[in-house]
Amino acid sequence: MAKTIALIAHDGKKAEMVAFVKDHQEELSKAHLVATGTTGSYIQQTGLEVELKLSGPKGGDAQIAAMAAEGKINGIIFFRDPLGKHPHEPDIQMLMRICDLWNVPLATNPATGSLIIKGLLE
Ligand code: PGA
Repeated sequence: MAKTIALIAHDGKKAEMVAFVKDHQEELSKAHLVATGTTGSYIQQTGLEVELKLSGPKGGDAQIAAMAAEGKINGIIFFRDPLGKHPHEPDIQMLMRICDLWNVPLATNPATGSLIIKGLLE
């Protein structure tokens, strides 16, 4: 069965996410991709199919956390903006807590994102 990978990027990191996705497009095309709304709509422009959740500040991170808790996600690549302030900070913390609780691989930068892709999709 195809692996499910969730992709999330804060606004300051969306360009980096699109570049990352393009660099790993072949491997990612083998996965079922899920993303928060705005991140997902950028990723769709690369031609990859993506299941869109709500935008992060509207609950998208919480939806992805719920999927992780239900065992529906194999790995999460979440490029957080370490310099930004976010109205949905509690949801971000919750997503990270759920990943630790359920031992779901979580990458917060391109270096670990590449390792997740190597481990799950190559
Ligand atoms: P977005 O959400 O992809 O809808 O911008 C990401 C986030 O801010 O967590």
